[in-house]
Amino acid sequence: MGGTVNHYDFVVIGSGPAGQRAAIQAAKLGRSVALIERSFSIGGACVHTGTIPSKTLREAVLYLSGWRQRGFYGRSYRVKERITAEDLTQRLDITVRHEIEVLMHKLHRNFVDTIAGRASFESPHMLKVELGDDDARMIEADKILIATGSRPVRPPDVPFDHPNVVDSDNILTIGNLPRTLVVVGAGVIGVEYASILSALDIQVTLVDGRNEMLGFLDREIVDEFSHHLRDRGVSLRLGETVQRVEIVDDHHLVVHLASGKRVRANMALFASGRQSNTDQLGIENAGLTPDERGRLVVDQHFRTSVPHIYAAGDVIGFPALASTSMEQGRQAALHAFNGVLRSGAQADFPFGIYAVPEMSVVGQTEEELRQAGIPYESGSARFRETSRGQILGLREGLLKLLVHLEDRRLLGVHIVGEGATELIHIGQAVLAHGGTLEFFIDAVFNYPTLAEAYKIAALDAWNKL
Ligand SMILES: Cc1cc2nc3c(=O)[nH]c(=O)nc-3n(C[C@H](O)[C@H](O)[C@H](O)COP(=O)(O)OP(=O)(O)OC[C@H]3O[C@@H](n4cnc5c(N)ncnc54)[C@H](O)[C@@H]3O)c2cc1C
Repeated sequence: MGGTVNHYDFVVIGSGPAGQRAAIQAAKLGRSVALIERSFSIGGACVHTGTIPSKTLREAVLYLSGWRQRGFYGRSYRVKERITAEDLTQRLDITVRHEIEVLMHKLHRNFVDTIAGRASFESPHMLKVELGDDDARMIEADKILIATGSRPVRPPDVPFDHPNVVDSDNILTIGNLPRTLVVVGAGVIGVEYASILSALDIQVTLVDGRNEMLGFLDREIVDEFSHHLRDRGVSLRLGETVQRVEIVDDHHLVVHLASGKRVRANMALFASGRQSNTDQLGIENAGLTPDERGRLVVDQHFRTSVPHIYAAGDVIGFPALASTSMEQGRQAALHAFNGVLRSGAQADFPFGIYAVPEMSVVGQTEEELRQAGIPYESGSARFRETSRGQILGLREGLLKLLVHLEDRRLLGVHIVGEGATELIHIGQAVLAHGGTLEFFIDAVFNYPTLAEAYKIAALDAWNKL
C-alpha cells in the first residue's frame, strides 16, 4: 500500500443512480469529487442487474412476441416464432453498453475522478480503497456519501447453486428460457418478471405469503391487472408460503408450499426482498449502525447520525427506486455543499411498475383517502374509449382520477395499461401545482392520444359531483 493519502472535498461510494447524481452535483458546485466503484463497471444495480436490464428485456419480449399487435392479429401472432434467451440478451448487451458510455462521458465532462476498487471506512473521514492484487489506496474526504445500493435477499435452504434456481441478478444470464416458471414474491420485481415472461407464453405461477399483491397500489388497478394475468394463464398462489424447493433433475424442480400444494416447474425465480450493501463497509469505523436489513437511517437531507456522512438510494430503503435514488443523491450533495435546495421538494413522486401491462400511480389511493377521512370522488376512463386505444387495438387500460369532493383538487392518479408510466407525468404535474378537475376538462389534448383518457375520466368524475 502506498503511503500517500489523497484528499477530496466529496467522496461517493457506489456508482448507481444515487452516487452518479450526487458526484455530478457536487462537481457542478466546484468541489473535488471521487466516485468509488467496486464492480467491473460503473452504473450500479440500475444498469447491470436491475432497472435497465429488466426494462430492456421487457421491450425485447414485447417486440419479439408481437404482444402489442395481438389485439388485431390474434394471440398466436409473433414477430419471431422461436424466441431464445440469446434473442433477449443481445438487445440487453447493446443497451447496457450505451448506458455506460453515456454515464462515463457525463462523469468525465464534470471532472469527477472514478476509482475502481472496494471502499471501506478506516475512520469517519478516511476510506481505504482496495484496488485488487493486494494494492490499496487511502482517501480522505470532508464529506462522504454512502450510495452502495442493495442486493437480492437469498432465503436460507433455497438451492441457489442449481442453475435453474435464480434471483433477479442471475436470471439475466440464464442460457435457456424455461417452459414453466415459479416466481416467489409478488412485489414489484416478482410481478414484473412474472408478467414479462408470461408474455412469452411461459407458464408462470406467482407465489406470495401475503393475501394480496402490490398492497400499496389502488385495489381497482390491481384487480384489473390480476384479471389480465389470469386471463393469459398466470396462476396466482397468494397467501401461500414456500416450504422447500426439491430439485428433481437438471430441468425439473418442485416448489413445496406450506399448505401441502406442490408447483412443478423448470425454473424458480426468487424475488424475496433486498438487503442493503453495508456489511463490507467497515461501517462501525464510521460510527454508524445499520438495521437488520443493512439499511442506514437518514434525516430529510439524507444525512446520517454522523453529520458529514450522507446516505442515499437503496441503502436507506424505501422507496428503493432508481428514480428516487437519483434525486436523493442530488439533494444530499446540494445540502453537503450549501447548494441551493429549493423549498417544497415534491412529496408526490410517481411509482412505475413495468409489468405487462404496466401500472403507474401518483398521489393518494382511495384506501388512503378513506382512512384520512378526506371526501373524494373518482372518475375513470378505459383506454378503449379513446380513438388512440382503438387504433392500437388495446383490450386493456384504465385511468382513474381521484379528486377532492369540495374544491375538486386532484388527489391521485392511478393507471394500468399501455404507456401508464409516461402518462402518469401529466397527472403528476397537475398534482404538484394544485390543479383541479377543470384543467383536464378545459384542456385541448392532442388527438388521437391515450392522454385523452384524462379528459374522459375528468368528465366522468364531474358527472358524479
Ligand atoms: C429487477 C429490478 C428492476 C428494477 N426496476 C426499476 C424501475 O423500473 N424503475 C426504478 O426506478 N427502479 C427500479 N429498480 C430499482 C433500482 O435499480 C434501484 O433502486 C437503484 O439501482 C438504486 O440505486 P443506488 O444508487 O442506490 O444503488 P445501486 O444501483 O445498487 O448501485 C450501488 C453501487 O455501489 C457499489 N458498491 C457497493 N459497495 C461498495 C463498496 N464497498 N465500494 C465501492 N462500491 C460499492 C455497487 O457495486 C453498485 O455498483 C429495479 C431493481 C431491480 C433489482
